[in-house]
Amino acid sequence: MADKGKLAIYWAASCGGCEISILAINEKILDVAAAFDIVFCPCIMDTKARDVEKMPDGTIDVCLFNGGIRTSEQEYMARLLRQKSKVLVAFGSCAQEGCIPGLANVTDRAEIFDAVYCTSASVDNPGRAVPQTETRVNGFLLSLPVFYDTVRTLGQTVPVDYYLPGCPPEAPRIWDAIVAILEGKLPAPGSVIGAQTTVCDECPRQRNEKKVKAFKRTWQIIPDEDTCLLEQGLLCCGPATRAGCDARCPRVNSPCIGCYGPNAGVQDQGARLMTALASVIDSQDPAEIDRIISEGIPDPVGTFYRFSLANSLLRRAAKVPDEQRHELPLPKAAGAQE
Ligand code: SF4
Ligand code: SF4
Repeated sequence: MADKGKLAIYWAASCGGCEISILAINEKILDVAAAFDIVFCPCIMDTKARDVEKMPDGTIDVCLFNGGIRTSEQEYMARLLRQKSKVLVAFGSCAQEGCIPGLANVTDRAEIFDAVYCTSASVDNPGRAVPQTETRVNGFLLSLPVFYDTVRTLGQTVPVDYYLPGCPPEAPRIWDAIVAILEGKLPAPGSVIGAQTTVCDECPRQRNEKKVKAFKRTWQIIPDEDTCLLEQGLLCCGPATRAGCDARCPRVNSPCIGCYGPNAGVQDQGARLMTALASVIDSQDPAEIDRIISEGIPDPVGTFYRFSLANSLLRRAAKVPDEQRHELPLPKAAGAQE
């Protein structure tokens, strides 16, 4: 059909769950197929970057781009798809905020390569061989993408039209976005498609005064099924997390871990969550407050910035100066990000 739209779906630094989540719209996928031709989607079709390169600029009506930017190849594809797409959607938490791949911003390429290729218990690599960006084999030059020190979000790399949060986005929100695209009722460019408020606003649990003497891990208690989990000492990210999932996790007795990112008007989800938790700690004694935090929150970065470190005000840990790090052969970083 000549009047069908053109849809591209691409993944960068991500797990692939966002692609799978598109199938969760079930039979409505037939409506998508009726409205769009999929012109690029390496996950399900044998389409190559060169196919996209040949397209005139703006050929693709909508590109759903999931994943953060970890390598030079992903950065190239982000720029290419931006150039070829009328509407570029950061699809899911990895594209919007870096998500779990962005948590690696607590370290850098040298430490990651060291762990993955040299020191992991299952690795046998006495020569400490690690991937190089260029290698000559029989006179031919083979190349690999540059692995950057820092994961960046899609929006830190190219202009993004819309953000669809979630890890992965929930099917009803994906359908909302598709309907908005089909009906031409998209919000202002730069908007997050979905709710503005927090998971707490969708959560049916009863809320009273929150006063916490100790934070508990999920395996330490069986919470009652009606009362706010945070009031029971479980570290629930609901107060600092955007609504849109219908409070899926608290509804099944599990605290929100923050996958929908910050709610409207909040720049830094971790800072917002810290502020919320500080207000519920039931103590005025600095020593006791220290104890409550250190015993109850053993992984502060993974707790407060599990999904949003790359997009936070911090972005990454300060880098270890090279002279303080043990020797490790690094790939040639021509054209590297930093
Ligand atoms: S803190 Fe968690 S459990 Fe409590 S109301 Fe908010 S989302 Fe629900
Ligand atoms: S409750 Fe929180 S962790 Fe669970 S789906 Fe919703 S935003 Fe994600």
